[in-house]
Amino acid sequence: MGNENIVKEYVLVGAGIMSATLGVLLKETDPDSKITIIERLKEPARESSASWNNAGTGHGGMCEMNYTPERPDGSIDTAKALKVNEEFEISKQFWAWLVAKNKIAGDFITSTPHISFVFGEKDIAFLEKRVEAMKKFPQFNTMAFSKDREVLKKWVPLMMKDRPQSDKVAASRMIEGADVNYGYLTNYLLKYLASQKGVVLITNCEAKDIRKSDSGKKWIVKCRDFSAKQKKEFRADFVFIGAGGRALNLLQKTKIPESKGYGGFPVSGLWLICANQEVVSQHNAKVYGKAALGAPPMSVPHLDRRKIKGEKELLFGPFAGFSTKFLKHGSYWDFFRSLGLGNLIPMMQVGIHNFSLIKYLVSQVLLRPQKRLEELRKFYPDAKMKDWKLSIAGQRVQIIKDEKTKGGTLEFGTEVVHSADGSVAALLGASPGASTSVYIILDVLKSSFPELLQKESVLKKLKEMIPSYGTSLQDHGELLLKIRENSHRILGLKMGKITDLEKAG
Ligand SMILES: Cc1cc2nc3c(=O)[nH]c(=O)nc-3n(C[C@H](O)[C@H](O)[C@H](O)COP(=O)(O)OP(=O)(O)OC[C@H]3O[C@@H](n4cnc5c(N)ncnc54)[C@H](O)[C@@H]3O)c2cc1C
Repeated sequence: MGNENIVKEYVLVGAGIMSATLGVLLKETDPDSKITIIERLKEPARESSASWNNAGTGHGGMCEMNYTPERPDGSIDTAKALKVNEEFEISKQFWAWLVAKNKIAGDFITSTPHISFVFGEKDIAFLEKRVEAMKKFPQFNTMAFSKDREVLKKWVPLMMKDRPQSDKVAASRMIEGADVNYGYLTNYLLKYLASQKGVVLITNCEAKDIRKSDSGKKWIVKCRDFSAKQKKEFRADFVFIGAGGRALNLLQKTKIPESKGYGGFPVSGLWLICANQEVVSQHNAKVYGKAALGAPPMSVPHLDRRKIKGEKELLFGPFAGFSTKFLKHGSYWDFFRSLGLGNLIPMMQVGIHNFSLIKYLVSQVLLRPQKRLEELRKFYPDAKMKDWKLSIAGQRVQIIKDEKTKGGTLEFGTEVVHSADGSVAALLGASPGASTSVYIILDVLKSSFPELLQKESVLKKLKEMIPSYGTSLQDHGELLLKIRENSHRILGLKMGKITDLEKAG
């Protein structure tokens, strides 16, 4: 793809963070291309990328304890945290470049400490070991750990207020953390993109089918335009299916062999949102706990300071739920429409092998308001029901994959599925999510536009936008710190100091 000197036509289905990121990267590296973005809703970024539909965490592996599992010998496996951290640094570089060049505004990201908080001797010992293992790496060397209640009162005053002395608690903290308003960011990226020559964003228009043209040279994306009340067709050399939860349904329509065997398992989310500004103003961090037994990784409870529409906000959750919809604004038929001969057996195998997950989801669906309050009170003992309202978050569709040796397996990550010739690519799954969008989209470029990425001018451009492009930041921690310093200066994010460790004592 992208190697001939003729103008290429690209269709991006869905106007969430992923299509927006791909659109900008494509336009920057292939300026003559024609890009059409198709969105089924009346506005972009109304599904998972919307501000309130996700937690806005810039996942950098600092506070998410599920990224650092304990090995059977008791040591801590830091590999996933290092990987996620690198991926987020890549996103920040790209965003900082866009902000520095005045292509987008910078108010979508806010400095917010990332804290892990644990209860009980066993988890305190785990967290202490985690911090010891992580601070050996330059990217985490400012991580502080404390069991001292006076220190914790400064870090998380709301969580320590009226906490019984008998509660054994501890926390780790990195002040380099960020809260990201992915809704703003998506809109900024799309606004910039739509101002470029050859780019069209069509809303209220749903892609219904994706099939090859008669000549087999192009893809035809068949749509229903709800505004014009008519059918529309778009021809494309390359189609990106960035349709969030519905990506699976559309991928299946392409009938590419690579789409076979995939299924989707929807997990919905609920937040408790604080309506009392006096309470909100007392919390200034993203505080992640440990997931309950059997809980999927994305259900890790967190008490989370957000900034939305310029206001400070506070959310707690997520509480998991189950709905057969693949999108928040989707249809209850989404799940059933995704079932077919190719994925029925792997889906059933997943049901049998993930009984603890099913049990967990059932228990979450049956949770009464009082039980939710009890969960919140583990974090904020003084929480009062009247201060909190329940809100529905975005819908996640986890990937079910037919693995040759293991049969159907449930995956909690993201996967780019593409045709052998790279002319169609779909993004399945939702974790770690928007924070790693730039890394994910670079993966899409690698699989679909290998020739484009060989061009010297394109490599130069990529290095300008993402200075670490082509170098592993996991292996070059010192370089990562230098790059982080630059991104944080432009994005207005804080840098930690190693002395934080001593202060925390
Ligand atoms: C509860 C929850 C919490 C999360 N927390 C975080 C977090 O803290 N940090 C993080 O980094 N990530 C988080 N995520 C994940 C993150 O939100 C997603 O990974 C990301 O927003 C996905 O972006 P997307 O563009 O792929 O999908 P979406 O934002 O869902 O966009 C897909 C778009 O495609 C459109 N569409 C669908 N079908 C069609 C069609 N047929 N035709 C045209 N348009 C179509 C939809 O309307 C939608 O606008 C969270 C997700 C959830 C659900």
